[in-house]
Amino acid sequence: MSDFLDQALVNAPLGRVLHDRINRHLADGEQAEKAVARVRALHRPVEHRGRIICAECSAYDGHSSTDNPPADHPCPTINALQPPKETQS
Ligand SMILES: [Zn+2]
Repeated sequence: MSDFLDQALVNAPLGRVLHDRINRHLADGEQAEKAVARVRALHRPVEHRGRIICAECSAYDGHSSTDNPPADHPCPTINALQPPKETQS
């Protein structure tokens, strides 16, 4: 938050409570973004024998083989990170 906004919130009635709550939400959001980035790094796309596969779901060894059957990328885990699509009725 900006210094000006920080100071205004702290000085206002209920400002401290609001200030702390906003900062807690911001910190929670940052932690959630970092968690999503870690999941995306695990489930990263790699090229394997001409296909783009998920490194994690395929248990790709980083060189040439997979311990699991090669799984297409984006995998269900990456798809689950996407915002839900609006349904039209
Ligand atoms: Zn995956």
